[in-house]
Amino acid sequence: MPVYTSEALILRTYKLGEVDRIVVFLTRDRGKKRGVAKGARRAKSRYVGALEPMTRAGVAYYEREQRDLVRINYVEPTRSPLSAIGMAAADASVLGHVGYFAELIDEWAPEAHADERLYRLGSAVVDALAAGAPIERLARYFEYWILRLQGVYPALTVCPGCGGPLAAGAIMPPREHMFVCRRCGSSGHGTDVGPDALRFLRAAGRTAPERMDSLELDARASRELETAHRRLLNTHLEKELKSVRVLREMGR
Ligand SMILES: [Zn+2]
Repeated sequence: MPVYTSEALILRTYKLGEVDRIVVFLTRDRGKKRGVAKGARRAKSRYVGALEPMTRAGVAYYEREQRDLVRINYVEPTRSPLSAIGMAAADASVLGHVGYFAELIDEWAPEAHADERLYRLGSAVVDALAAGAPIERLARYFEYWILRLQGVYPALTVCPGCGGPLAAGAIMPPREHMFVCRRCGSSGHGTDVGPDALRFLRAAGRTAPERMDSLELDARASRELETAHRRLLNTHLEKELKSVRVLREMGR
């Protein structure tokens, strides 16, 4: 049985049998894997604290012939957003977003082959969380990039309706998934995305994840993008994520 070792992001776990867990993780070099962590639910398990969502870790695992589930040898955490923030300091919104980032990566990570750019994005989010980046800005950046890596982010410079520029702000019309100019769309029908939000998106497109703290985003622009991104995500995933419902409940 070949053993692989890889840097990986823990995405989620679920129970298996009496004491084990199945761990879903995104490796840097071989895509998403599901593996059995033997005894992970025992109180003195060596996996305690190592399997929280968005933990970056060194993972060793065996691939078994004819089986989708790999067998995990060890998980050695190198960075966890929660331990870095400190459990006490981590507010509910940050915790909710950690689950949200992990669920989005899980939805879109290919099972069979590596996606280096997705891995880099996820890994940079872990670093940004650990550095205490403002959570809303981080979420909008992450949503923009994960949609863009899937090739489904709408055009940001030219209106598909008239070919004119979008600099003065844009509208995502109801039931459509593109940004049109304010002459082609009508304000109040659909989702308004103002000039500040567009500026943020264009800057995000030129900014590596490691540099995202140089981006500016005010509360209003963040709300506009949150609405637009949620519509795009729900359409392309054909569902609403569980973690999004959690975040919405928190917002009330
Ligand atoms: Zn137009």
